[in-house]
Amino acid sequence: MRIMAQIAMVMNLDKCIGCHTCSVTCKQTWTNRPGVEYVWFNNVETRPGQGYPRRYEDQERWRGGWTLDRKGRLKPRAGGRLRKLLTIFANPLMPSIQDYYEPWTYDYENLTRAPLSDDVPVAPPRSLLSGEPTAIEWSANWDDDLGGDPSPDPVLAEVSEQVKLSFEEAFMFYLPRICEHCLNPSCVASCPSGALYKREEDGIVLVDQDRCRGWRMCVTGCPYKKVYFNHKTGKAEKCTFCFPRVEVGLPTVCSETCVGRLRYLGVLLYDADRVAEAAAVPDERDLYEAQLDLFVDPDDPAVATAGLPAEWVEAARRSPVYDLVKRYRIALPLHPEYRTLPMVWYVPPLSPVVDALAGTGHDGEDAVNLFAAIDALRIPIGYLAGLFTAGDPAPVTAALRRLAAMRSYMRAVNLGRTPVLPPEAGLPEEEL
Ligand code: SF4
Ligand code: SF4
Repeated sequence: MRIMAQIAMVMNLDKCIGCHTCSVTCKQTWTNRPGVEYVWFNNVETRPGQGYPRRYEDQERWRGGWTLDRKGRLKPRAGGRLRKLLTIFANPLMPSIQDYYEPWTYDYENLTRAPLSDDVPVAPPRSLLSGEPTAIEWSANWDDDLGGDPSPDPVLAEVSEQVKLSFEEAFMFYLPRICEHCLNPSCVASCPSGALYKREEDGIVLVDQDRCRGWRMCVTGCPYKKVYFNHKTGKAEKCTFCFPRVEVGLPTVCSETCVGRLRYLGVLLYDADRVAEAAAVPDERDLYEAQLDLFVDPDDPAVATAGLPAEWVEAARRSPVYDLVKRYRIALPLHPEYRTLPMVWYVPPLSPVVDALAGTGHDGEDAVNLFAAIDALRIPIGYLAGLFTAGDPAPVTAALRRLAAMRSYMRAVNLGRTPVLPPEAGLPEEEL
């Protein structure tokens, strides 16, 4: 067993209010420059919705000339040298600027310089790319305004149909996203220049700007579409997990400025020898478990002889991430079926559980009632399973049950009542 350290993040979706503070502070820190106006290393999506860039989850769009090798790594599909060269030079399998959005600013001059007329002057949008007036058709988190309602847009209409929305049944929640700093990063595997690399000491995935030749295979190869192309420098850029801050013990900018305080940072220890095997398990529904199997308890005796820096082992011990991900299994990976072993984890939203009991006369804080209500949640379990467990509802239901049990337990403690922890919660009482 070769034990390595990976910095990771857990986000509790119940706490996200969609304020976009994380996106804006990240942008001000990292992408407030020409050439990356359209780039959001951190974005917050409304679910259900198309995401940013739109329809990034439609993996068939990006597959084209690529396939997975036996170890689960991305490689060019079999074919002649000419075909590979064409794939490299043409690489048509990337989001267009319309899939992100054409960045704009407002023509404020028009407010003060418009000639006298019967109409009040407005500040019309002007493209930051062409400088010309532009019609805004799409942007990051456009779904927020559409609210998942049936739409004339055929793609949105399909999403609405999939989740069978009616006005009474409509639901939404926010999904903040950064680069997953995957254990098996397909962006690294797909770079012909070897410019993308995963840092040995903490697993952060970075682009070496000196080596990048602007092939943009990483943009195609990342299933989460979290590598971007800088149109001014001709190089790829991506989330750095704020490594200059992390290295001096500071949290990432998005974590520090998060209004909901929902981002937990920490260190996971994992068996690096079994990463390829975990990424290649045949049934995609087994990927979540395979991923969990990689993580090593920081108190495991093998850790002491693994040669890791003492501060990393200590960070793993103090970290909430191992507990949330593996011990309590309440944080789940985003789209494990992409097989990159993503390292940003999500506690699924539970909030509407109390709504599900409305009018039943039951106490919304009683764990047994909450368990019953989970089956009637407004956010369909199947929808969450499609995001977090390759469609397997069991781990999502189990996570929601544990969350409900913890909520009920702590509520009783705070009210001075005798707390009850149902055995189905799968939580040992002494650990609460
Ligand atoms: Fe690479 Fe994409 Fe994974 Fe980030 S999310 S490490 S860019 S494959
Ligand atoms: Fe959500 Fe926090 Fe970002 Fe606000 S700052 S959108 S609460 S993740």
